[in-house]
Amino acid sequence: MEVAEEIKKRIDIVDFIGQYLQLKKVGINYSALCPFHQEKTPSFVVSPERQSFRCFGCGESGDIITFYQKIEGLDFPEALKLLGERAGVEVRFKSKEATDKERTVRDKIFRINLLAAKFFKLMLKGKEGGEALKYLKRRGLSDDVIEKFKIGFAPEGGKLRNVFHKMKITEEELSLAGHPERFLYRIVFPIFDTLGNIIGFSGRILESSLPKGISPHPKYLNTPETPVFHKSRVLYGINLAKDAIRKNKRVVLVEGQMDVISSHEAGLNEVVASSGTALTDEHLKIIRRYSQNVVFAFDEDEAGQKAAYNAVRMALSQSLEVKLTIIENYKDIGEVVEKDKKALGDIIKNALPPVEWLVKKAGENLAASQKKKLVTDALLFVSAMQDEIEKAHYIGYLAKTVSVPEIAIEKTLQKIENNAKPKKESQEENLPTQDLELDFICFVINYADIIDSLSLEVDIEFDDKAYDMIYKKVKLCYVKSSERQKCLLDLKASFGRKLIERIESNSLSWDKKINEDKDEALQEFLSIKAKLTDKGREKIKQDYAKLIAEAESGGKIEEVRDLMTKLQKELK
Ligand SMILES: [Zn+2]
Repeated sequence: MEVAEEIKKRIDIVDFIGQYLQLKKVGINYSALCPFHQEKTPSFVVSPERQSFRCFGCGESGDIITFYQKIEGLDFPEALKLLGERAGVEVRFKSKEATDKERTVRDKIFRINLLAAKFFKLMLKGKEGGEALKYLKRRGLSDDVIEKFKIGFAPEGGKLRNVFHKMKITEEELSLAGHPERFLYRIVFPIFDTLGNIIGFSGRILESSLPKGISPHPKYLNTPETPVFHKSRVLYGINLAKDAIRKNKRVVLVEGQMDVISSHEAGLNEVVASSGTALTDEHLKIIRRYSQNVVFAFDEDEAGQKAAYNAVRMALSQSLEVKLTIIENYKDIGEVVEKDKKALGDIIKNALPPVEWLVKKAGENLAASQKKKLVTDALLFVSAMQDEIEKAHYIGYLAKTVSVPEIAIEKTLQKIENNAKPKKESQEENLPTQDLELDFICFVINYADIIDSLSLEVDIEFDDKAYDMIYKKVKLCYVKSSERQKCLLDLKASFGRKLIERIESNSLSWDKKINEDKDEALQEFLSIKAKLTDKGREKIKQDYAKLIAEAESGGKIEEVRDLMTKLQKELK
């Protein structure tokens, strides 16, 4: 094709790829770490002479157009069109009359979303958006940043429907786009792909804008999966972060969309978040293309820290360089920016590699049991590392930190690695016990129809206090068997967005298991329950053991006997 040749002549492949990767001159060629597979030493080579690239690790090869397609996830016509714009080459595929009909599905969706976004933006500035705008200002957002993220407000649905109608957009097309008119009475955040196309929306209910009689559920709403919107791959903010990531050679990963927006307010632009779901391997693969250095700035609450643990292990197993922030005195990045914009830079600068982060958080003068917990947690990170030297370094470091011989640390690591081995296929299976709690909560909330209410007649002590509260409420719902489903739905609607996201992404794996074999899924649930109850029993035993030992050493025989009886009763 002539146009392709013209583009290749005008844009130099070294310049172009150099915007994405750090190229090093080697002889007449350039090399870099391959963006398409994981590696520690560069096997990706760009030849200026042939205007082509090739990776000797994974075999990817091609010209500037293939590279652009692969790295931005485009099809050939899209890549050609965008490169054409850059090179000043006119790219025309069909006669003008035909284009409308043959517009690709993606184009159609982008057009609908753009229309919707413009409409929402207009509404935010109008009468109906008054409360929404006030809310955004209260969260410390400036007009500039509101404009940058194209934040809008969705009033009642009829108005947007009329706009679509006038533009002759069919019901079928709207359904392809995931019905943007569904976002009623919500602040709407458009979600962009790396090139700045709007692929979907995320909406947050604004109770003060709700007319009487309208239910505020669900509080958070996302575009469903569409041909262009895949939750497991969407990185919120990537379109605005790309350049800053390349410039500052790092990505900052935060938990929520508001955190991304707030960070821009504080001048930190290399920030992204997963959207509507917990972080996945896919997300990290996309991040990898831009930078090997990832800073996790997750919330300081228990749930946020757990999410951080999982994300870090995933990132380490992809050979990314990981650091974690410690946000003292604030609950999340959003709050830092609201209260002290300038603090954010230091927080990011002081982020620590995962093992050092754990050590810092653990503090000093640890008791034996605290040392054990620290080492176990740290070794879960170490076991995910791909490099033997790095592992050896941390074995030595941990031994020194808790003052035990290296051999003890090594043995523990071996145990952890052996336990993980047979289950290597599924990352979810070798997670620490805390995820049993999420699994359990998720199951009892979502699959009330397949569990017997008798299953919940047990007390469970959760490490996570939030789950404790939820479980108490779930139990109440199960008692009202006639309205159980509704009661659970209401309960779910009362959760915060981050919790909903965690539960949602966990539900995906349960859905899959239940579809494959319902009985087996139920068995798995029951075994999780048993493990959690065991844990509770263990704790009771330990607590009593302490009391009994005290009574014994004080020679109080009566009390010892009393405690023994009580213990037996409790364990029944
Ligand atoms: Zn490769």
